[in-house]
Amino acid sequence: MKYIGAHVSASGGVDQAVIRAHEINATAFALFTKNQRQWKAAPLTEDVIEKFKANCLQYGYGKHQILPHDSYLINLGHPEIEALEKSRVAFIDEMQRCEQLGIDLLNFHPGSHLKKIEVDDCLSRIAESINIALNETKGVIAVIENTAGQGTNLGFRFEHLAKIIEGVDDKRRVGVCIDTCHAFAAGYDLRTAENCEETFKQFSDIVGFEYLKGMHLNDAKSEFASRVDRHHSLGEGNIGYTPFSYIMKDSRFDGIPLILETINPDIWPQEIAWLKSQQD
Ligand SMILES: [Zn+2]
Ligand SMILES: [Zn+2]
Repeated sequence: MKYIGAHVSASGGVDQAVIRAHEINATAFALFTKNQRQWKAAPLTEDVIEKFKANCLQYGYGKHQILPHDSYLINLGHPEIEALEKSRVAFIDEMQRCEQLGIDLLNFHPGSHLKKIEVDDCLSRIAESINIALNETKGVIAVIENTAGQGTNLGFRFEHLAKIIEGVDDKRRVGVCIDTCHAFAAGYDLRTAENCEETFKQFSDIVGFEYLKGMHLNDAKSEFASRVDRHHSLGEGNIGYTPFSYIMKDSRFDGIPLILETINPDIWPQEIAWLKSQQD
């Protein structure tokens, strides 16, 4: 079973995101549980939590179909202790919000070394930040997203993801989300079926499909191996349709949220319908 959707707006409340997902015929969705550009947010009210759960039940979204994304401000590998502390507190809050909403997953970008610490040092900090958050919460899985490697962002090599996982104590509560645009921009080619075979073989060998908890399906405006993160609509960018069709036919991508973060929400219904049509 493939669960296919998009990162929908939660404006007006997280409960509204569920309705928006339903309106575009999505069988999965992503959302921000708070404003992604602010550090602090009011706690979720009982009322909103109940409405969110009721909407999920009504429209048929189970735990394994929802992949929230955390705030862009958080850097779990921050080289400076005060800023690292601030990020850790904010991340625990994000995890707790998921817990309150009955969601099992939280997707986040691993972190950036800001040219102030070594790569390995930063990766260890990220793992430690995850350990701290897992100790403060129950059930929610920390889902590390691969990045394009823009600036000093880590997570652009599968080895980075593996190294972070290695440092997490409770392996049942850590996973990864692979973003096709980020992978392509980081130098993992996906343009042909052979490229997909090779890239996902590397993923399988280095990280392992048992850790794959979600995918972001994005074409790329950015060039191959450019380390630039610019999404595009499916088939309109430098990647093309091939990997999206490939993923739809491959059972290794069953049972996890497959989320569009493509640039034109107006055509999400068509993109979702096209993805569904590619399944065998
Ligand atoms: Zn993404
Ligand atoms: Zn991106």
